[in-house]
This record gives sequence, C-alpha cells and structure tokens, in this order.
Amino acid sequence: MRKLAAGNWKMNGTSADIPQLEALANDHHAASVDVVICGPATLLTRMAATGLSVGGEDCHPAPSGAHTGDISAPMLADAGATHVITGHSERRTDHGETDADVTAKTTAGWAANLHVILCIGETEAQYRAGDTLDVLTTQMDGSIPDAATAQNTTIAYEPVWAIGTGLTPTPQEIADVHAALRAYLTDRFGDEGAQMRLLYGGSVKASNAADIFALDNVDGALVGGASLKAADFSPIVTALE
Ligand code: PGA
Repeated sequence: MRKLAAGNWKMNGTSADIPQLEALANDHHAASVDVVICGPATLLTRMAATGLSVGGEDCHPAPSGAHTGDISAPMLADAGATHVITGHSERRTDHGETDADVTAKTTAGWAANLHVILCIGETEAQYRAGDTLDVLTTQMDGSIPDAATAQNTTIAYEPVWAIGTGLTPTPQEIADVHAALRAYLTDRFGDEGAQMRLLYGGSVKASNAADIFALDNVDGALVGGASLKAADFSPIVTALE
C-alpha cells in the first residue's frame, strides 16, 4: 500500500478555500504517496473538482431514508468522495457513537466503494492510567469488521489528548503503540493486516512530521488543524514522500 497523507477539515471550509486546494492538487499531482482531504459534505463536489482525492468525515449506516441532517455513504460517493472517516473521537464523543455504530458505518462505506479511515484512540485519563493498549484493543475488536482488508481500510491511531492540543506522544510511545497495533492486525487479519495502513493522528504538523514518519509501522498521518491551509499541509505531504 502507498503511504497516505489525509487531511480532516472537520467543521471548516467554504468555497473560499477551493483556490488553495487547487494549488495543493497542482503541487502534489505526481506525489508518490496518496493525498486525501476529508471535508464537509457541502464542499465535496467542489473539492473533488480540484483533482484531489476527497473523503467524507462520517456517514450514516443506511444508504438512504428518513434521517434528517445525515449523509449516507452513497451520497458521499456521488459527490466525488473516494474515502470516508469513521469512528473519529469527536463523533464518538459529540454524537455518542459506539464501536457497533462504527462497524455499521464502516460496512456502509465499503458498500459504496469508499475506502474507510477508521479511527481509534485513548483519552488522557486512559493514557495516564496505562490503559492505552487495552482501550485500543477493545475498540479494534468492536469496531473493525471482519471483512476489513488493506484495500478497503486504513486504521488511524489518534490519542484523544493529542487532537488539537499541540501535545503528542513521544516518538517511542508512537512506535510502541503502532507495533502493538500491527501485531493485532496481523494476528487477526493475516497478510491483509500486515499490509493495512496505520496512520498516526493528533497535532501532526510540518515540524514533527518527519520524525513521526520515520517510525516503523507509521504509514502516514491523519491531520486536522494543519490540513486547513495548503501551506501547512504541503510540507507534511512532502515529508511522507
Ligand atoms: P489535529 O486533529 O491534527 O488538529 O490534532 C487530528 C484529527 O482530529 O484528525
């Protein structure tokens, strides 16, 4: 699998941001890594028109129906998305999403031919209690469907306490967690698990990207704040190449 630099715009982005995405697409059109920006549904069609690969930030488990305000995976695909994020900690916290919800949304994403970026991560309290690996194992048991393959799924490890805070685990901590995640994936999914991409996410920026990308079992990043401006995201893509 090629490495993946994925942006997550969250509840940001308007049509005024399209020109800088065009610049990003232009700068990295021949990148040796995959570049994807996951953005708001309102903007996906225009984002996709830049030539960049784009993704949704969430999807409903059902393909259509009476779910006011929700967006389905086939609707994301119709808008030009090739990817979708599931299980982001902000969805788990703000919308009470459970591991079972994440499984259902991931399966729905696959059914619409979307590559799923499935997020897991421990809270600060869990980290301080030394429970990180137990929490991640429980989340992976509960939220990664058995049909996951390297082609249809990327796992993003995002410590909740590192998201948007400027804090990151030490490189050794990231390396240790990613080694444990790789062991889990290989044990459960065999060769597919060995190939499945493992992203790190949480306060990745141009100044720390190269050190993080140098670690074993880090196959890219899921980037929030530093993906909002092409000038910040572009060096992160370059660091991954
Ligand atoms: P951050 O967000 O890069 O702003 O910490 C990462 C994420 O939530 O995916």
